[in-house]
Amino acid sequence: MTKIPVAILGATGAVGQRLVSLLFSHPWFDPVLLCASERSAGRPYAEAVRWVLADPMPEQAASMKVAPCTPDLKVRLVFSALDADVATKAEAEWARAGVLVVSNTRCYRMDKTVPLIIPEVNGDHLQLLKSQDWPGKGGIVTNPNCSTIGMVLALKPLADSFGLDAVHVVTMQAASGAGYPGVPSLDLLDNMVPYISGEEDKLETEPLKILGHFDEAAAEKGIQSARIAISASCNRVPVSDGHSMSVSVRLHKKVTEAEILSVWRQFRCPVSDRQLPSMPAQPLVYLDLPDRPQPRLDRNTGDGMSVVLGRLRPCALFGWKFSLLSHNTIRGAAGGTILVAEQCVQRGFLD
Ligand code: NAP
Repeated sequence: MTKIPVAILGATGAVGQRLVSLLFSHPWFDPVLLCASERSAGRPYAEAVRWVLADPMPEQAASMKVAPCTPDLKVRLVFSALDADVATKAEAEWARAGVLVVSNTRCYRMDKTVPLIIPEVNGDHLQLLKSQDWPGKGGIVTNPNCSTIGMVLALKPLADSFGLDAVHVVTMQAASGAGYPGVPSLDLLDNMVPYISGEEDKLETEPLKILGHFDEAAAEKGIQSARIAISASCNRVPVSDGHSMSVSVRLHKKVTEAEILSVWRQFRCPVSDRQLPSMPAQPLVYLDLPDRPQPRLDRNTGDGMSVVLGRLRPCALFGWKFSLLSHNTIRGAAGGTILVAEQCVQRGFLD
């Protein structure tokens, strides 16, 4: 297969670096443009970026000149990891130029015509792209918030098998979730910050769209939101990567521990998506150990694309509760976006 030329917007940021790290060895995509702000444009990538990943910077990327974020038609697909402040305008400009934008930013997530995708959960919502009004193959597809992705992957099989009424979630989110340099070290060391701007609202609303119903025959109506009450409390903790969560769920039915474990263990993506290069063999991995999952030990499970679950136990208020861990810059951002793009290619949205 000839590789598809792609651009990365925000290539110098925390998520952008992950995209660079993953895309230069990707079997389908060829990053030919690394874009960032005017501060970085014109400089070699290795000079413009402050590389913070443990993996070495791909050699090919190091010498590439950073480009501005203006549309360039040598690419057919754009990965956006821009600051939300600038993404609304930049992403629309690329879509208007006829390019498919797969975005990490919050700007278009809740727009009625924009798919908000977790490939194992709601790939069918990609059909919404047909109701967008950009020229040519232009379009915008979004990746949910980094905490939403992990939580919804765990909730989807419960909702499908038992019905889901209510969720209470407390997050403990990694420092890298705030980008680079993010939260000042003196605010976070020996500390925890019980506030992340806008995060609780995203965690309470995005799952309703993702788990909502889409009727292709009535696409103009958009997604019919799922009816689930969600209450979220979000905290920033001094962990480098990996968002942890304590989740309680109220299900429609009375179920046993064995039934919940069974639906989690059997959960897989649709058969047609199993060969996507970034699809983990097991989206949900349950650890039957009393003190797991832990960010340092478990965040790279499934190359950072699997959500790790543990400590399923009865909850006096909701019925059941469990712990969850998801890698925020891989599954929750760069890796998740790449998987969405692969699904777009597989389903013909780039043909
Ligand atoms: P970041 O580290 O602050 O990176 C921001 C990127 O945007 C940099 O490449 C920066 O380029 C570029 N940029 C800033 N101002 C610009 C402008 N005026 N014009 C063009 N480019 C500009 O942020 P991040 O954590 O990677 O997050 C990127 C996006 O992904 C955000 O919308 C965030 O909400 C979302 N997200 C982040 C995570 C996470 O875990 N970090 C997870 C999911 C989603 P320069 O280097 O040139 O300034």
